[in-house]
Amino acid sequence: MSAGKPWFPRCPAGILLRGRAGGWGRSRERAPARLTPRFRARLLMRAALSWLYPDASPICPLCHRPLPGPAMVDAARSDGSRFCLFCVQRLAALQPRVWKGCLQTRLGRVPLACGIPYDRDIPTFIRAWKYDGVLALTPWLAVFVEAALQPLARVFGREPWLLVPVPTSRDRWQQRGYDHVLLLAERISTRTRLPVWPGLLRRADDGSGLTQSQTAKSAAQRSAGTVGRYAVRPEALVHPLLRAGVRAQRFLLLDDVVTTGSTLAACADALFSAGALQVAGVAIARVR
Ligand SMILES: [Zn+2]
Repeated sequence: MSAGKPWFPRCPAGILLRGRAGGWGRSRERAPARLTPRFRARLLMRAALSWLYPDASPICPLCHRPLPGPAMVDAARSDGSRFCLFCVQRLAALQPRVWKGCLQTRLGRVPLACGIPYDRDIPTFIRAWKYDGVLALTPWLAVFVEAALQPLARVFGREPWLLVPVPTSRDRWQQRGYDHVLLLAERISTRTRLPVWPGLLRRADDGSGLTQSQTAKSAAQRSAGTVGRYAVRPEALVHPLLRAGVRAQRFLLLDDVVTTGSTLAACADALFSAGALQVAGVAIARVR
């Protein structure tokens, strides 16, 4: 993959809105915050402790082994994270595998591309990133999405798309402390110049106010559980990125892992209901 060179031309709206929170700038609706105050405090506390006790032996956030010497940092993808040599080797061994025919994997009207099968070390890394707060994995995982974007760009041309992160529900966001897909979208946006439009919202399940995890459900339960779950925020429709209207815009849904595709299909339905003509999906990994 050629580093640094964007695959998509720079979108004029992207230039205008670059640097603003996810391209959300002047809209009255606040963008879904990336980190909760509690999670931010946790990061600050960790930084303060390592400043106060610089000699305390650091621990690799992935395998929890003590780091014997200076932690390995990958210069190309580093954000200052410190993983042990063993984990860096495991990460570096993973290469994007956009398998043949991935664009035939359509979810109804929605073409889908994923960067790597959900096997080997990928489930471990995605769990650490999604549930354990190892946000330093974001750039590593973004590589798989960027690889999956290339076949989509070949088929659909190089006109700008809006990157639409599949939203995390409010209770899940508060529990974890961050919206991992939004963070991923922002990372991909800085590399590809695709503007981020966090215009979808996820409704709570059943009046309990708590969303249920999709992982433990069967395919039928997943599909039934996601129908009507997502909607376009009405205020997002007057966003400056949509000046030409929803119909004139191409939407690229972004998710972490695709299992049955019911979540992406439900998000696509919400966009089609709002008038979208073209929606595609991209994800880090797909369960085969
Ligand atoms: Zn490690």
